[in-house]
Formats: sequence, C-alpha cells, structure tokens
Amino acid sequence: MLRKTANAPLDQLNTLGFAAKASWLVKAEQPNELPEIFDFALSQQLPVFPLGGGSNVIFQGDLKALVLQQQAQALSWPEIEPDELILSVPASYSWQQLVLDTTNKGYFGLENLALIPGQAGAAPIQNIGAYGVELADSLQAVEGYWLPEKSQPAKFAIIDAKDCALGYRDSRFKQDWKGRFVITALQLQLSKQADPRLNYADLKARLAIKLDLATKKQQPEFLNQPLPRLIAEVVSELRRSKLPDPAKLANAGSFFKNPVITKQQAEELLTLFPKMPHYPATNGCKLAAAWLIEQCGFKGAKRGSVGVHEQQALVLVHNGGGTAQDLLALAEEITTAVKTRFNVQLEREPELVNL
Ligand SMILES: Cc1cc2nc3c(=O)[nH]c(=O)nc-3n(C[C@H](O)[C@H](O)[C@H](O)COP(=O)(O)OP(=O)(O)OC[C@H]3O[C@@H](n4cnc5c(N)ncnc54)[C@H](O)[C@@H]3O)c2cc1C
Repeated sequence: MLRKTANAPLDQLNTLGFAAKASWLVKAEQPNELPEIFDFALSQQLPVFPLGGGSNVIFQGDLKALVLQQQAQALSWPEIEPDELILSVPASYSWQQLVLDTTNKGYFGLENLALIPGQAGAAPIQNIGAYGVELADSLQAVEGYWLPEKSQPAKFAIIDAKDCALGYRDSRFKQDWKGRFVITALQLQLSKQADPRLNYADLKARLAIKLDLATKKQQPEFLNQPLPRLIAEVVSELRRSKLPDPAKLANAGSFFKNPVITKQQAEELLTLFPKMPHYPATNGCKLAAAWLIEQCGFKGAKRGSVGVHEQQALVLVHNGGGTAQDLLALAEEITTAVKTRFNVQLEREPELVNL
C-alpha cells in the first residue's frame, strides 16, 4: 500500500518557504517500491518529481506532479573499517550527517563539503562543491531507477560517475537525464590516508589558528579529533559566519553561479576594474558573482518580502509572505544590472520548478 497524500502542501519542504501544493506526495520506504509508484504516476498521467531537502528548488506554483520523497534509511558500515572504503549511502541520508559520520571515523573525502543542506541523493545533480572540493572527487557510482521510456522499459541500474558528466554545478542529471532517473544511493570512495585539501587561504589560516590555540591551551578533546573532523568543523564555522541558516531565514544558498568568461574578456574587465576577483578556470576565467552583485549596489537590498542578504550578496532571501515571482523579479533586476555594468551574464543556480 503506497503512502500517498493528495493535494499535499510543500511549504515546509522547500528552504525558500514558498507556498505550493503537489497533486500527490508519495513517500517511498524502500527503492523496491519505485515501480509501483511510477505505475501510479502513469495512471494519473503525472510526471514524477524526486524531492530531497528542498534546498535547491524554487516552487513557482502548485506542482501538477507526483512528488516523491524517499524515507530515511540507516548507513551500513563494515565491521572492520578499511583504510580505503567504498561506502554505499542511501539517497535519503542527510548530507551533513554523512559528513559528520565519515569524518568522525577519520575518513577524508567529504570534510570540505560540511554543512551543505539537503540529502545525499541530490548531491550529484549539481555536483555539490565548496572550499575547492566537489562531490566528483569522491563519487564512484550512482545507483537508481530509470523511468520507463518508449525505447526502454523501466529498470534499476548503477551508473559509473565517469558517465555522469559532472562539472561546475552541473551533471547529466540536470541535462539530458533530467526527469529520467531517480537516484536511490551513492557509492563514495573515502580514505583514511591524510589528504587535507586546504587550498582556500581562509580555511588553511583558520585551521592553523585553531590548532595553535588548542596546543597552547592544551585542549586534548580538540586535538585528539581526527583531522578530517577538525577541517569539517572549521568549514562549518566559516560557513556559519557567511551564510544565513535556512531554518531562521528562508533562502536557497547561492542564487547565482560564479560566471566563467573568456580570458580576453577578463583582461578587458580588469583594466576597468583592477580589484575584480578572478580565478583560473579550465575553459577561461571564473569571476565572483557576489562581487559583481555587490558592485551594482544590491547587497542588503529589499524588495517587499524578498531581498539580498546583508552579509552575502549571492544569497537571495525570503522574509515570509512572498512568492517565487517576487524573488524572480529581484533576480532579473540583478541580472540586468550586472549585464549592463560588466557585460557578464549571471546564471541561476537553484532549479525553477514549474510542472
Ligand atoms: C544555505 C545553503 C547553502 C548551500 N551551499 C551550497 C554549497 O556550498 N555548494 C553547493 O553545491 N550547493 C549548496 N547549496 C544548494 C543545495 O544545498 C544543494 O544543491 C543540495 O545538494 C540540494 O539537496 P536537496 O536534497 O535539498 O535537493 P532538492 O532541493 O530537494 O532537489 C534539488 C534537485 O535534485 C533533484 N533530486 C533530489 N533528490 C533526487 C534523487 N534522489 N534522484 C533524482 N533527483 C533528485 C530534485 O528533483 C531537484 O531537481 C546550498 C543551499 C543552501 C540553502
């Protein structure tokens, strides 16, 4: 018997807190319920929309869809933990809990990705990344369920990470596989071999200060923690100082991707704006969207019930009672201003859901 609710409110299921209803909300206890759920969606002539923590979606209105939520399952650890481990993680597992579990056991791999909201199953969709590390660095494979199509019947499958075209906030799950594959588990490669990735100056500096202080104050409870756990803690502190907590102020994290432009355009811009932050990228030069937005005067801007966060220009916030349309109008205003001033096109990061 499927656990399903008709006309289900989604207000509490998206971190932007926008009001929306789903034709059906269905909770799957186990992946083996997926065929029955898809048969039901087919019988209702509705698309299936997998929902994780709702931290990267903008609901534009009610969803004429079957919204699928996979229910929490436990992690299973091997009795003897090897130095090199391939860990299978259920899609419904909290990403932050996973970072805590793995780093507490001394495994490197996920420590720089601490405090990213959402569920593990959504992590490959935009190849989550932070502090110089991406999911792609650890992801071995993705387990899931192909929806039935004209050319092929529905089936469970394991997809090698190499075939997912994981890029900067991008993957095939957002492109040609969009709406075709439900992720049920991730296979992650983790290691106890020391491999701290401290290329971000503020992360490296803060870790060094904390280690130094703890040594001087002789705090064994701090110093005896595994290094990946310490790094995750410092990353969490840095994030808390910069990003609003969606539980207190509705938001979807970075609203825009950092734009990548050609080296030539970057050089031209640098002659006009010598202080413009810029970073090498494989296919050109990456700019800081937050800086561009700030230069256009939007930091802390308010438009009715929505606005730009006061400390972080990349984060758009919802103060309650507003709609996706209000937020999109502000995003459009910002995009136009940045284009006019810098001739740089900003691209939205969270997915606009309009089914
Ligand atoms: C405060 C804040 C900070 C953030 N910081 C970062 C950051 O540093 N780096 C970063 O990369 N992102 C960041 N994000 C964005 C977001 O947390 C990530 O994209 C996260 O992976 C989304 O997970 P979710 O479970 O909430 O996905 P949802 O928002 O529920 O879904 C996002 C997309 O994934 C699809 N999806 C979800 N689960 C599945 C599944 N099992 N199978 C198939 N498709 C699925 C959905 O259909 C939707 O298209 C931040 C967001 C917030 C609010």
